[in-house]
Amino acid sequence: MIISLVRMPADGLKFRHQYKAGELDTRDFEFKFEGAPSVTGRVDRAGQDMRVRGDINAEIAAPCDRCLNKVTIPVEIPFDLFYSPGDPGAGHAGEHELSERDLDFAVYENDQIDLDELILEQLELSLPSRVLCREECRGLCPQCGADLNLEQCDCKAEIDPRWKALADLKAGMEENDK
Ligand SMILES: [Zn+2]
Ligand SMILES: [Zn+2]
Repeated sequence: MIISLVRMPADGLKFRHQYKAGELDTRDFEFKFEGAPSVTGRVDRAGQDMRVRGDINAEIAAPCDRCLNKVTIPVEIPFDLFYSPGDPGAGHAGEHELSERDLDFAVYENDQIDLDELILEQLELSLPSRVLCREECRGLCPQCGADLNLEQCDCKAEIDPRWKALADLKAGMEENDK
């Protein structure tokens, strides 16, 4: 959904949109939609900038970090962003590394704000750093790939080398205590 600012009323512009399945392309993102998202909000003039506020409601699906099974995550994301008028011709992308601030500060061009882009970015940012189907998920066997939540495979349990290093360290420290 594109918001046109051409005939924006002085007291702001309200928007509301219920997306259809497949309307937003998530190919470049780490999640998929489980239910079609909806967005409500408003645009207000803030000096030179446009302030875009609202709420995104969606149900997204992402793979569990351990067992790769689908996890459904209902999300409600409030957003409050400022859009600066872009300088046509002076490409704003790729010139400098994205900083934290840039995530809250976007650029609009041609009197249009692309709400689709806003929604996809906000959803990507809201993804938890760790997606788990449940806290005690046992994950996949690193050797045969069996889902250990469903079956016990016959692979010999090997100590993860990282844990072994820790265990050695601990043993060494105990040694020093003596
Ligand atoms: Zn899992
Ligand atoms: Zn196995």
